[in-house]
Amino acid sequence: MIYPINELFETIQGEGVYTGVPAIFIRLQGCPVGCPWCDTQHTWDKSADDRIAITDVLAKQQASTQFAEVSPDDILAQIQALGFTAKHVVITGGEPCMYDLRPLAAVLEAAGYRLQIETSGTFEVLTSPQTWVTVSPKVDMPGGYAVRADAMLRANEVKYPVAMHKHIEQLDQLLLDCPVQPGTTICLQPISQRPHATELAMRICRQRNWRLSVQLHKYLAID
Ligand code: SF4
Repeated sequence: MIYPINELFETIQGEGVYTGVPAIFIRLQGCPVGCPWCDTQHTWDKSADDRIAITDVLAKQQASTQFAEVSPDDILAQIQALGFTAKHVVITGGEPCMYDLRPLAAVLEAAGYRLQIETSGTFEVLTSPQTWVTVSPKVDMPGGYAVRADAMLRANEVKYPVAMHKHIEQLDQLLLDCPVQPGTTICLQPISQRPHATELAMRICRQRNWRLSVQLHKYLAID
C-alpha cells in the first residue's frame, strides 16, 4: 500500500478529545467531499503532475497541492529520522478513509505509536481496532457523499462543526439516523472561531454535557 502524503509534521493536536497532545500529523492527499469552509482545499485534487519526493514534501514552506507517494515502512523511517518525540499519530487529509489505513496502522502501532484518524464519515473506515476514530460528519456537502452509518458506529468521537442552530438540528437528525456507540464523545466545534458560533457551541455543550473543541492551534497560530 502506498499513501499520498501532502504533509508530515509534528505539532500539538488542536481539536477534539486529544487537544493539547503532542502529535505527528500525516496529511493525505485527496478529498471529494467539497465542504465550503474547508481550510485544506489544497488536498482535494490528486494529480499525477503534483507528485514530488518525500524530501520535498518535508521541505514545504507553505501549503500546496504537491504530494509524495510513500509506503508504510518509509513513513515510519521518515518519522524516526526526523527525531519526532510524539507517540500520537494523526492521519488526516483530505479524506484519509479514501485509503485502506490498515497497513499503515500495523507498521506504526508495531513501532509503539497510537493512531488517530480524522474522517468525514463518508467512506468506509479501514484501520486497526485500536485506532481512535474521530468522525467529523459532513452532511449535504456539494460532493454528494452521504455520511455512512458504519462510520458513525465506529466513531470514538464525533466532532461536529457548528455555525448556527440548524447545524445542531442536523447533528440531532444524523444521530437518530446513524446512531453512535454508547460512550462516544460528542464535540461541537465552532466554525472559524466566529463569536456567535462559539457562544452557541458552548451553550449546547453545557445543556447536553458534550465537549467543546475550539481548534486550539488556530488560537496559538500554529499548524
Ligand atoms: S471532508 Fe475535510 S478535507 Fe474534505 S472538504 Fe470537508 S473539511 Fe475539507
